[in-house]
Amino acid sequence: TNALSREKAYGGGATGENQYAPEGTKPVKAALVALVRNQELYGMRKTIRELEDRWNHKYNYPYILLNDKPFSEKFKQGIQDLTKAKVEFGVLEPGTWGYPEWVDQIKAKEERDNANYIKGHSESYRFMCRFQSGFVYKHPLLKDLDYYWRIEPDVHYFCDIDYDPFLFMKTNGFKYGWNIAPTEYEPTVRTLWNTTENFMRENPELIPQHNMLDWVRRSDGTYTKCHFWSNFEIVDLSFYRSKEYEAYFEYLDRSGGFFYERWGDAPIHSIAVSMFLKKSQVHYFDDIGYYHPAMAHCPAGSKERGKCICDPNEGGADNFMCAKRFRQIS
Ligand code: GDP
Ligand code: MN
Repeated sequence: TNALSREKAYGGGATGENQYAPEGTKPVKAALVALVRNQELYGMRKTIRELEDRWNHKYNYPYILLNDKPFSEKFKQGIQDLTKAKVEFGVLEPGTWGYPEWVDQIKAKEERDNANYIKGHSESYRFMCRFQSGFVYKHPLLKDLDYYWRIEPDVHYFCDIDYDPFLFMKTNGFKYGWNIAPTEYEPTVRTLWNTTENFMRENPELIPQHNMLDWVRRSDGTYTKCHFWSNFEIVDLSFYRSKEYEAYFEYLDRSGGFFYERWGDAPIHSIAVSMFLKKSQVHYFDDIGYYHPAMAHCPAGSKERGKCICDPNEGGADNFMCAKRFRQIS
């Protein structure tokens, strides 16, 4: 079978955690995690092929793929064929996809019908954003994980990655790692900042003195709309599992903004990072060359030499206002 020939080719079974990790690396309980649909098989295969070639063939971290519907046999085989690492496929838990009972679905539909912003008409996109905001890290397949690296179909990894970013996070005590930081479209987050201000006012004991709110809040108190683009993020999951993060998600979810607007998980993760963490706990992976449709980050100085295949002139994510702002704040 395919499974057997794979085992032969790589001299071992594909079970157990990180059994191929090179000697000397400390084990980190971590995985590459994607929410993905059956019809995105080819896009997911491209992403995983690149990640394997650029990095994971040396580390063999497992993949965890989640779906609101059961994965087809074709999808599972198509992914498993690409890697000797363990791949797990899961269906979402009831209640983690769809509407919470307090949301007025007629009001939600009115917003969708009238929306003239990207993905504004989509109901499933809102389920996706709510799931990525408050539920992905609670899925049973992620129960034993300490870190996750979020991946998506149809992204590119431009550069060889010659170290273990999970171990790097752990060793340095980083809670959140990011790569591209654009600004959010105003119409999708019309009341997100107000709602956040109310949350902070009502829960002052949850907001540490030493935070990085200056990244999302200007000196006049307004919202910068800076966010870490969460289609790439490497996270110490104890952050999402903290009582502070949970309280914030609950508060936002109760307000219905996932449905009465179109709040993305990226601005929510990012505001939470800014409220609850110190800058020294947040890492800019500016050495990881990355592309997600519409935006790229190409590490500086990688045009003429090095192990990248991108043109830094095209993907100057470093030049974005929010990356600059991150460098400037303390
Ligand atoms: P964008 O990056 O904001 O344009 O949103 P995407 O369409 O890329 O969706 C983000 C992630 O969620 C991707 O990994 C998608 O494959 C996944 N996703 C989006 N909608 C659905 C859905 O309805 N079902 C499932 N299973 N995955 C979804
Ligand atoms: Mn995407």
